[in-house]
Amino acid sequence: MAAKSAIVIGAGIAGCSTAYALAKRGIKVTLLERNPEIASEASGNPVAMLYPRLSGDDISSEFALSAYLHSLQLYKSLKLPPEDFGCCGMLQLGFNAKELARIQKVAVQNHASDILQYVNKNEASRLAGINIEHDALYLSGAAWVNPQQLCRRLTQHQHINTLNLQKVINILKVNDLFEVHTNQGAVLNAEMVVIANANDARELCTDLVMNIQAVRGQVSLVSATASSKALQKIVCSDGYFSPAALQKDSEQLHCLGATFSNIAATENAQNKLIVEEQDHQANLEKLNVVSNTLYSDLKNNIVDGRVSLRCTAIDYWPLAGKLLDAVKLRTNPPRPGADVNSLPWVEGLYMNIAHGSKGFTTAPLCAELIACMVSYQALPVSNELAGLLNPNRFLLKEMGLKRLAKMVLG
Ligand SMILES: Cc1cc2nc3c(=O)[nH]c(=O)nc-3n(C[C@H](O)[C@H](O)[C@H](O)COP(=O)(O)OP(=O)(O)OC[C@H]3O[C@@H](n4cnc5c(N)ncnc54)[C@H](O)[C@@H]3O)c2cc1C
Repeated sequence: MAAKSAIVIGAGIAGCSTAYALAKRGIKVTLLERNPEIASEASGNPVAMLYPRLSGDDISSEFALSAYLHSLQLYKSLKLPPEDFGCCGMLQLGFNAKELARIQKVAVQNHASDILQYVNKNEASRLAGINIEHDALYLSGAAWVNPQQLCRRLTQHQHINTLNLQKVINILKVNDLFEVHTNQGAVLNAEMVVIANANDARELCTDLVMNIQAVRGQVSLVSATASSKALQKIVCSDGYFSPAALQKDSEQLHCLGATFSNIAATENAQNKLIVEEQDHQANLEKLNVVSNTLYSDLKNNIVDGRVSLRCTAIDYWPLAGKLLDAVKLRTNPPRPGADVNSLPWVEGLYMNIAHGSKGFTTAPLCAELIACMVSYQALPVSNELAGLLNPNRFLLKEMGLKRLAKMVLG
């Protein structure tokens, strides 16, 4: 029988969209967040872009496109005000030989023109409202969103109770119920638990092999000029540049991002959360690739920035689905040819983490996958995709169980 109560750990986009997908199915959710506010770590940037990066007709493009279309539909359904969500469209520029080949390859796939189309530089310039020097892939539905407002809206559901300043320190299973302990001494019970606390999942699942890494990133906020305000679309080179959709005091701001630097497991990630001038310069260089004119116009206009940590798996796929009992699996390894259903699953324990640089696109579909698993509904992705997202895959591979690593619970 489907669970009636759930605890979701971590209130970034992964936790908030999971709470929402469960609540929509009538499950009573307690959402636990260690900070005073939800969406205040990776999901706390002033703005996030919503778009897929497609490479052709491979399985990662199938996932990127399905996740993008799902998130777009979800966000539209939330009826966020225009200052928090804008479907302005995006131009992905063929700014070097490799990117040009990629967008040309994607353009000849059989996509509907309202999803994407190839445009030459004249058409790209007309759409953008500024001069663009490269042919581009135009995604008319691509959007930007205010992450905090989005997360707030997702959690304003009658079945979701959000508790801030509650850091989860332990998860136990006592008979058929989970017991979740927090640093405030609270002990909460539920029939199911979803671990959605990004890099810190390592502290809660010490036996699972996750192969995740913290990747530092910085965005730069740039005050708009009369000419830069003409920009109508998000423009993407190896970074992104948004229209001047953000408002701070009386100023209109563009968002420019983002940088990437891996944090070694031995480093203290908290020491890396300081805005760096050299990262602003690196972001400006990405703008220079989009348009030298915009770069010259805006290079002295950076007014602010924000740093946070992505959580990325070494194979770049999220970890989403039901968890195995790693200790039992190691103690009693399955025989070759074992059925996936015979593995030691922890009934009711799920994970939704490792959304890398695209969480606003990928997390809601992974949330839906979990909600469908819990309520015995048809999965929203193919079995092959669910297998690639399997959160136990690194553990199973490490144990030489590659075949099982690609499978989901039947
Ligand atoms: C600079 C930068 C720019 C980006 N731009 C984009 C973009 O344009 N578009 C896009 O789609 N993505 C973007 N991303 C990626 C996106 O921000 C992430 O993929 C997404 O925010 C991950 O969401 P999450 O919920 O998994 O993690 P988080 O947002 O980090 O949420 C995890 C939550 O868990 C909480 N937590 C941790 N441990 C505990 C515990 N023990 N108990 C309780 N709570 C706990 C944390 O406080 C946190 O709130 C960007 C990332 C960066 C760094």
